[in-house]
This record gives sequence, C-alpha cells and structure tokens, in this order.
Amino acid sequence: MLHIEPLVFNPFQENTLIVYTDSGECAIVDPGMLFDHEEARLVEKIAELKVVPRLLLQTHLHVDHVLGTRFVSEKYGLDPMAHEGDEFLIGQTKSMAASFGMAVDRDPPVPAVHLNHGDRVELGATTFEVIHVPGHSPGGIAFYSAENKVLLAGDILFKGSVGRSDLPGGNHKLLIDGIKSRLMVLPDDVVVYPGHGPKTTIGEEKRTNPFLC
Ligand SMILES: [Zn+2]
Repeated sequence: MLHIEPLVFNPFQENTLIVYTDSGECAIVDPGMLFDHEEARLVEKIAELKVVPRLLLQTHLHVDHVLGTRFVSEKYGLDPMAHEGDEFLIGQTKSMAASFGMAVDRDPPVPAVHLNHGDRVELGATTFEVIHVPGHSPGGIAFYSAENKVLLAGDILFKGSVGRSDLPGGNHKLLIDGIKSRLMVLPDDVVVYPGHGPKTTIGEEKRTNPFLC
C-alpha cells in the first residue's frame, strides 16, 4: 500500500508530498521548502515516519516546486528526476523567486534523470507510470500508480480547476486536450493529489470541473 503525507510550503502554499510504501521507502515529490523551518519540518516528518528517501521526483520545474530541491538532493543524496521540457526553467529560479520577493541563493540542480511519457519509476514494490501533460509547463508530468489508484498531478489538474497557462511555455488548449485524453481516461476512483489545494478524484473532476465540461 502507498501512503501520502502532504506538507504545505512557501508563500505559494505548494504541496510537497512524501509518498511512501509499507516497506518504508519514500519519494519526495516537488520539494518546495523556502525557509529553514520548512526544511526542518520535512526532515522531522521523514524521521517520524521512519522512511528512507529513495526518489526525488518533480512534476514540473516552476519556482514554487523547486525551492527545496537542492536541499533534498544534498541532504539525502538523491538526483532530481524531471521531464527535459522544463529544464529551461532551472536557470530562472533565482530571478523568478526574487520577482516574488523570495530570497534564493542558488538555482536548483539541473535534473540528472529525464523522465518521458510512458516511463516507469519504481519505489520499492510500487511502480509509477509517467504521464506527460504539457500546457501548464512544457515538461509537466503526472505520476500514476494504477495498483494504488493514485495520481500525483502537480499543477496540471486541481480540485475544480486546472493549471494556469499564462506562464512561459504555457498553452491552455494543449493542457485541456492532455487532461482529457491522458487523465480523464483513468478510473473514476483514482485519487488525485495536486500541487496546490486539496485532493480530489478523477470521477469528481469528470463530473464537476468547469474547465473540462
Ligand atoms: Zn506550476
């Protein structure tokens, strides 16, 4: 079984997910810690859960999702894994953060492992399939565990909404097409964990999301 512990970090209220298995292995998804006390909270939570970080996964590389990537990479010796389409954003992190009034010393490390649509990522006995849905960002990906009926959706899909598409590389039509053809085809009872806000399900979004009707 898969367990998911969301922690909310930085002024954007970004969901950093600790995703872990019964065997005690965890993936840290989109580390968004800006402040020292946020880094401390992640470390404490991982210790409290008694899990070992094995993967550093990025749904995409917007500033609010990578503020803690360098910390996690160095602290736990993990290589960030992301879609290549978002790599151009890495070098803009410091300046983007500054434009929002956040002080960041250095850009995050460039992802060492590239993930593409259809790739599989293993966490203990659990497998995540990579689903590429561009439009919020060019390299936006979701991680899907069919067995556990869990979708880690980043900022592609939210409860009652979808990701914004007015940022560099955004494209609203691509986003909606991708959500419909690649996410709305998943079973209704799949639980969706977005990059901001509460969780939802594929079925609920199919029925009620105004952007998908
Ligand atoms: Zn984003």
